[in-house]
Amino acid sequence: MKREFVLLKLLLLLLIFPVQGWDWDTHRWFAERLCNDFSCGCIQEIKDGSIAPDKDFRDTGLHHCYDPLSCTESGYWDCPTARKCPSMDKASEWLEKAKTMSGCGKWYAIGVASHYWLDAKCFWHQVQNEDYSSCHKPFEDKVGDRFYKKQTGWTVCQCDVCVSYSDFEQWYAEFRGIVAEALKATAITPTPTPSTPVKTTPAPVITTTPDTTPVSTTPVYNQTPSMTTPVKTTPTCNHSFHVSHSKDHHRLSAPLERSFLEYFPRVQTRFLQDLPGFSLCLSPAIP
Ligand SMILES: [Zn+2]
Repeated sequence: MKREFVLLKLLLLLLIFPVQGWDWDTHRWFAERLCNDFSCGCIQEIKDGSIAPDKDFRDTGLHHCYDPLSCTESGYWDCPTARKCPSMDKASEWLEKAKTMSGCGKWYAIGVASHYWLDAKCFWHQVQNEDYSSCHKPFEDKVGDRFYKKQTGWTVCQCDVCVSYSDFEQWYAEFRGIVAEALKATAITPTPTPSTPVKTTPAPVITTTPDTTPVSTTPVYNQTPSMTTPVKTTPTCNHSFHVSHSKDHHRLSAPLERSFLEYFPRVQTRFLQDLPGFSLCLSPAIP
């Protein structure tokens, strides 16, 4: 009976304080930087998208990311019991949507995805029954204040939890890599403009090579279009993933980034731009 009362009280508290996630200034900073880096030309749309889940959709019950394995108990919060990450799921959903869109609609969708993605990174969205008014809210407000004042190099701590500007820079780099991949994937899907000039160049090369070699099977392998079309040499299928777990670095090949992310929806991704593929770094607690 007492337990039921406590649960009811918690439920009421949740209704009174809708847990939104990072401050809107934080989300807007993230979106604005993304727009600048990609020269998106849709600053208003991406910024609108970046706060839409809180402001318009109000689906704040989906802005969390739980992994019991990466949680340590504390007096300030409870660890989740089940592993689920609707926030990352929503981010993937909106990134997929973005791939099918064009113009500023695409950047609005990317902005929305960035909101869910960044909320999943917030510590207080990875734990339950936390002290909202003394821990969760002041933590996010302090961070938002730093972004509002355009400060860098800071660290904010509340209830034994700290976050630094450098964390946001790292998260930003991760998400920028994801967006770059999404934009590349969009380019591969049949868009009329880029496909036509590319197709004209390899066509004559293919016809000339088999003429010189009489064997029918070998030239097929020699003709791999990598030499002729430099733009199309980075398909998503040849990526190798570096999976780090407990400081041991394992390397495994996976056919597709997406299939991997489906297995580990909450992996902390780090895309290394200087590699032909990219790396995914699992957070140490995930086996
Ligand atoms: Zn949110």
